[in-house]
Amino acid sequence: MQPAPPLSPVTVPGLIDSHAHLLRDSAGLAFPGTAAAVRAFHRQVAGQGSTPMDVLDPPPPAAPGEVAGRLLAGLRRAAGTGLAEITEMGMREWWYLDALARLQAAGPLPLRVRIYLASGLAGQAGPDEIGARRADAGPWVALDGIKFYADGWLGPRTCAMCGNFDDEAQDGLLFMDAATLARRITPYLGSGWRIATHAIGDRGIEAVLDGYELAWDGDLAAMAAAAPRIEHASVQSGDLIARMAACGVTACIQPSFAVTDVPQVSAALGSGRSAAAYPWAALAAAGVRLLAGTDYPIEVLEPLVGLARLVSGRSRRQGFAAAGSAPPASKTARVSCRSPNQLKWWVGYFPAQDRANADV
Ligand SMILES: [Zn+2]
Repeated sequence: MQPAPPLSPVTVPGLIDSHAHLLRDSAGLAFPGTAAAVRAFHRQVAGQGSTPMDVLDPPPPAAPGEVAGRLLAGLRRAAGTGLAEITEMGMREWWYLDALARLQAAGPLPLRVRIYLASGLAGQAGPDEIGARRADAGPWVALDGIKFYADGWLGPRTCAMCGNFDDEAQDGLLFMDAATLARRITPYLGSGWRIATHAIGDRGIEAVLDGYELAWDGDLAAMAAAAPRIEHASVQSGDLIARMAACGVTACIQPSFAVTDVPQVSAALGSGRSAAAYPWAALAAAGVRLLAGTDYPIEVLEPLVGLARLVSGRSRRQGFAAAGSAPPASKTARVSCRSPNQLKWWVGYFPAQDRANADV
């Protein structure tokens, strides 16, 4: 009898969510429920000269075994939606990682977990500890990068804009200018940590691109090799899109934003600037590197709903109808379905027979 062939790694189809807050939500921590609460939080943090990623989480909400059980339930639910991997975008305490270690000691996790450390946690721990934690993370968990936070959100009118909002005589909040961001990310360069920064408004995105150019000292090739990320990258001029492409910066977009934010976009930006919001098709056409995520629990976790919204502007799946549809500039059906490479920003591998049925 022939001996069984040795086991070898295989690649299987799987959906990837590159920006979520699944661990935090699964643990039972509350997220601000209203735009007014987010606005108050952003103003308070900015007033203290800090950023939302420098505000740490409270102690664990339950005993270690209970916390691990909650995280396992969340991971199982995510795997049940078809996800093979999630990225926790901004982990603010180590107890999440301790709970994942406890789960991994008992067996494989339901899906792979990639983690970006919140800038406050990474800064407090220092390079030795974060390096040791990364080496020790276990087979199902990867500590990938550090997340910074440049501006606020569109709904609460706290994202940093180049001009005033249409419905308010103010232009949002910038938590960090370019020089501060550059100073803060420089210590992580060269040690394999990937950099990601939240930026939604055009002034916020510009500050981040300026900060990245300062940090990499204008070396575009080195910057492109490191592929730093901008999370959301929502409101963009043509110039910013061209800069992102030239610098090799990755935009991590949230297809659901373009659908659920329709009323906010027209109110906040007016008819003159609305087309600058969620310009996914222009980003893809310019060759900007793209990743996609949900920002769960801000948006639904189900990846097929996000994919449908990305390619057709809406989802017809029962229970996921939204009042609006994404504008044409936020649909990327032709671009994404023609190129398997571009599908990778949402789907690790998307079976050919399903491409024709992308309107799920
Ligand atoms: Zn987020």
